[in-house]
Amino acid sequence: MKQYFCDELNNVLTCFHDRIGACCSGQIGPVYIKEYRGEKIDWKAFKEFKYKSFEMLSEDKVEQSECRGCYFLRERKPSDVISPVYKMINVSNWTHCNCGCIYCARMLDSKGKITYKSQKSEYFDMVPLLKQLYKQELLDRNNLVAVIQGGDISVLKEFEDMVKCFLKNGVKDLHILTNNIVYQPIIQKLMDLNKCILFTSLDCADAELYYKLKRVDKYKDTVENLRRYAKGRINPRIVVKFILVEHMNDSIEQVQKFVDLMADIGIKMVEFTIDNKWAMFTNLDEKPLPAHYGDIYLYFKKACEERNIKFNVWEKTQYIIDKYALKKI
Ligand code: SF4
Ligand code: SF4
Repeated sequence: MKQYFCDELNNVLTCFHDRIGACCSGQIGPVYIKEYRGEKIDWKAFKEFKYKSFEMLSEDKVEQSECRGCYFLRERKPSDVISPVYKMINVSNWTHCNCGCIYCARMLDSKGKITYKSQKSEYFDMVPLLKQLYKQELLDRNNLVAVIQGGDISVLKEFEDMVKCFLKNGVKDLHILTNNIVYQPIIQKLMDLNKCILFTSLDCADAELYYKLKRVDKYKDTVENLRRYAKGRINPRIVVKFILVEHMNDSIEQVQKFVDLMADIGIKMVEFTIDNKWAMFTNLDEKPLPAHYGDIYLYFKKACEERNIKFNVWEKTQYIIDKYALKKI
């Protein structure tokens, strides 16, 4: 009987603000602990959960599994071995943020509230959980990639303690997602140690449009902070995202302005993605993707090539563009 496999399920642990799950899809996927609020964990059951989830990935059970329909599923090869440790942890245990992007996936939980003062997570503290995960030898001590991506780190009190905990236990790389409104000296230090990639979504090169997209008047600050990080000592790893939002930044003109700004700052990599409305909440077989998205994608790619900027596309966006805009699949 055919067996399926998922590398995310094998390697990734995601600590959402309200639950601990496998992958970061947020919509589907196995959930280790529902409604987690920092309670004591039954580690034996926790460790067994991954194996039980894989048992559901056989041909006869997959349709009843939490993974049904996921495009990450692939046929299992003899070399696929279930690992007892995770190679990637997604930290997303808080929702407060100092801006209010109109496409924010956490909007329902944060209620769109804009928070300026650093505070504790409204749900649970991450550092105690991290210490337990390390004590249980669940996190890879040589090759772990830690992705910190909840609300914004600048208003998360335990951010620095979290980073210290990862460093103490030998993390390989930190991927830090931030709106970049506040300059963080610790990020600069991590970059100088070649231990971190900074990901930020700027989405435009226009102060007025930025305000419409983010609901805060902080365009100048974010651009200035980007320039500071980009001047770092050793080849700073920075990825600036452009999230395509319909009727906002979905024009060739906006794309060109953005690429010009990136070249001016010295950014070496950008990431193109479409917003959640199309990536998650629309059945594209019934409601078609806007027809011009394919043209924007092709233009963006070419404009980046011309400026020697690496053009990255998130896997799911690439799939949607290929299938629904360029009709290649
Ligand atoms: S198959 Fe999909 S839903 Fe299931 S764990 Fe993998 S990525 Fe998540
Ligand atoms: S920066 Fe991130 S967390 Fe903050 S509002 Fe925007 S998308 Fe949401």
